[in-house]
Amino acid sequence: AYAEPKKPSWLKVKPAGDAQNVRDFSRLQKDLRGLKLNTVCEEARCPNIGECWGGGTATIMLMGDTCTRGCRFCNIKTAKAPPPLDADEPYNVAKAIAQWGLKYLVLTSVDRDDLPDGGAHHLAATVRNLKQFAPDLLVEMLAPDFSGNVTHVNEVLFSGLDVFAHNIETVERLTPVVRDRRAGYRQSLSVLEHAKRTHPTVLTKTSVMLGVGESGGEIEQTMRDCRDAGVQVITFGQYLRPSKRHLKVEQWVTPAEFDHWKATADDMGFLYVASGPLVRSSYKAGEFFLEALLR
Ligand code: SF4
Ligand code: SF4
Repeated sequence: AYAEPKKPSWLKVKPAGDAQNVRDFSRLQKDLRGLKLNTVCEEARCPNIGECWGGGTATIMLMGDTCTRGCRFCNIKTAKAPPPLDADEPYNVAKAIAQWGLKYLVLTSVDRDDLPDGGAHHLAATVRNLKQFAPDLLVEMLAPDFSGNVTHVNEVLFSGLDVFAHNIETVERLTPVVRDRRAGYRQSLSVLEHAKRTHPTVLTKTSVMLGVGESGGEIEQTMRDCRDAGVQVITFGQYLRPSKRHLKVEQWVTPAEFDHWKATADDMGFLYVASGPLVRSSYKAGEFFLEALLR
């Protein structure tokens, strides 16, 4: 029988920021509910919520709360045919968010393999509306792989977004264990590589979860593969098991190890690296985007 190793002290959740941040956050929460929108921050009970939202960064999930894929680390509901898209979402979301005065927005979504274009048009329309209503807002899209279809990738790539993110999630050997069978390590790399080559001024970004059984050599190889694909920003965080039905945690990676991976990635020439037990792909995204630009 598998007994999950005891959570180490460095994963204990911090309280959610100062009073001002929390007040702002509840206002946004009310708007979000009105729009039937989901934030990954809440859904995943992310411990960084006070820091991120207080710092002007938020993460919104588009295209509903049900995914066509079933990755073994992910807490999102799965169905073969989720409910149809809300055709008003690209307009309503943009309109509301434009009024919040955020500096940086991360858009993410479920995967919709049931739709002919994987939802590319819907996602692109949301970005176009956002840029129209809030021209100064920086937009990062954590995009699906669109099964490698470059026409669909291009639609979101040329929507006006600032950062094209797609998560490789884990090392090559563990990809079939960790991610849905329709996802692929090489497919993800090729989507990232295509994005950088086709639209060089868009920043490319990926994230890796540690603690699912990968070796140090495999982590290094993954970094190298991402660098070779032109990926500019990379983040590393600890995998946390959402429930007993999910993939088990194999290792608690120590803060010192996370520091080591940051140093290794910096040496490889990534423009920005975030690495730590509680780092999530969207962690303080705005801050490091600005930092990277100011360099
Ligand atoms: Fe979760 Fe994304 Fe996998 Fe869907 S594709 S199950 S949202 S990680
Ligand atoms: Fe939200 Fe990401 Fe920040 Fe967590 S790290 S609060 S999911 S933006």
